[in-house]
Amino acid sequence: PGPQLPLDPSKKTLVILGSGWGATSLLKGLDTTDYNTVVISPKNFFLFTPLLPSVAVGTLGAKSVLQPTRYITRHKARQVSVIEAEATAVDPVNKTVTFTDTSPLRPVEPTRTIPYDYLVYAVGAETQTFGIPGVKERACFMKEIGDAEQMQTRFLDCIETAAFPGTSEEEKRRLLHMVVVGGGPTGIEMAGELHDFLEEDLKSWYPELHPYVRLTLVEALPNVLPSFSKELIAYTERTFKESKIEILTGTMVKGVNEGSVRLKPKDGEEREVPCGLVVWAAGNTARKITRDLMSQLPEHQTNKRGIIVDNYLRMPGAPSIFAIGDCTATSYAPTAQVASQQGAYLARMFKLIAKKDTLENKLESLNATSDDNDHTAEKHKEAESLKKQMDRIKLKPFQYSHQGSLAYIGSDKAIAELPIFGREWTSGGVATFLFWRSAYLSTLFSLRNRALVAGDWMRTKFFGRDVSRE
Ligand code: FAD
Ligand code: NAD
Repeated sequence: PGPQLPLDPSKKTLVILGSGWGATSLLKGLDTTDYNTVVISPKNFFLFTPLLPSVAVGTLGAKSVLQPTRYITRHKARQVSVIEAEATAVDPVNKTVTFTDTSPLRPVEPTRTIPYDYLVYAVGAETQTFGIPGVKERACFMKEIGDAEQMQTRFLDCIETAAFPGTSEEEKRRLLHMVVVGGGPTGIEMAGELHDFLEEDLKSWYPELHPYVRLTLVEALPNVLPSFSKELIAYTERTFKESKIEILTGTMVKGVNEGSVRLKPKDGEEREVPCGLVVWAAGNTARKITRDLMSQLPEHQTNKRGIIVDNYLRMPGAPSIFAIGDCTATSYAPTAQVASQQGAYLARMFKLIAKKDTLENKLESLNATSDDNDHTAEKHKEAESLKKQMDRIKLKPFQYSHQGSLAYIGSDKAIAELPIFGREWTSGGVATFLFWRSAYLSTLFSLRNRALVAGDWMRTKFFGRDVSRE
């Protein structure tokens, strides 16, 4: 059975899958009076991912970086149906989406299928594990809010266990060795945040443990942050060295065991390194539902990284499906900046598409009226006018405008690469950190989140990070 929704048969149904950067940006800009709008996402909130590593170490509270999707939809001109469920299948031929309620309150997960006229596919990606043994079971990811909370619990477990009377020196050293895998921006920011906690809080809350602390970042490539300029890579490596964060480049993690990681340097022997915590930030891969959707259009979908789209973000072979953000394989990096610009672009396009659809409906009704000799010329004239109006509506291809890259590297320092007057301007340090904070504060979607994040920063500054846990 289909869900009971306030569907107006005179309007087309727009189904949006996801409530992340792409979907939320679309929802913000969308004129909902034009469509029956349905949002389906397993999370009933938007997560501001750039501040996720700050949640993992307790600088920020989890709720500060979440915005309930209904905060956006309740202000829309026409009601939007928000359904907390996981889409499990998309049928691009019959134009339907099947979704399941994963609530633990249901003994059997109910499944529904809904038809769509247009589908915006914005389900993001999932963490790439490359099938490396032990990663899924023992490492902490850094993608969802639950990952940050899980990491915090594990991290505090390591500290409290190390603080237990009688713990051997060797065990303390192992428990307090934190390993971050992946030298992309997520891994670098995570290592920076962990460093801040260890230096600013652990040192004062658990002074006896501080000498045992070690932080290592492992990267398979010859250097970290491959998407940043050479100067900023060098600056980050220098800052990490000063902060005593060890960087092992050219080293692959081959496995995560209980209490250790297996490292394989490019030209060296594989070795086992004891550690208490492994944070896995080794990149993204397509979700199962995305792979399933792509496999239904094998002629067009030939890139394993994600969905191929045309210049209007439509899926070739299924032009009613628009795909945006991390689930796509385009020439752009999988970033929030790209996803949100794509969402905003689609909101503008859907306004034009609605206008075109209205004219098309009028034309169809006109053609359906019976011919009456007295009015044939008039009807013909009106049809011509409608066709002309339709022709005038031109969809413009999506164009990305890069606003620059920013990353926090710990010790109140950040790096920035900003395009200014057509030139790439790079900077790193404390002033850049203040810029990073103000940039993210202003990018946060709501005043409520801005107030919560600013309040958390003040709390951390004056009282330190919270080390209590359940
Ligand atoms: P997401 O934001 O991941 O949203 C996907 C949505 O789909 C989610 O709401 C999810 O719940 C939902 N979903 C999942 N499965 C289903 C399903 N089966 N059915 C329906 N819905 C589903 N980028 C930057 O530009 N700047 C940064 O500073 C930055 N920092 C980052 C820090 C971290 C720690 C991480 C992990 C990423 C960061 N990124 C940053 C990258 C950025 O978060 C992603 O590029 C962005 O989230 C992509 O947006 P999206 O809408 O495609 O996917
Ligand atoms: P990424 O793909 O950028 O980096 C992952 C890194 O892990 C790669 O450098 C890879 O070589 C390494 N790696 C993979 N397997 C490994 C292994 N077994 N052993 C050792 N190293 C291994 O992933 P990310 O950092 O999560 O970033 C994902 C996307 O999100 C990127 O587009 C990034 O730009 C964006 N992002 C941006 C920011 C920011 O702008 N501040 C922050 C976070 C993420």
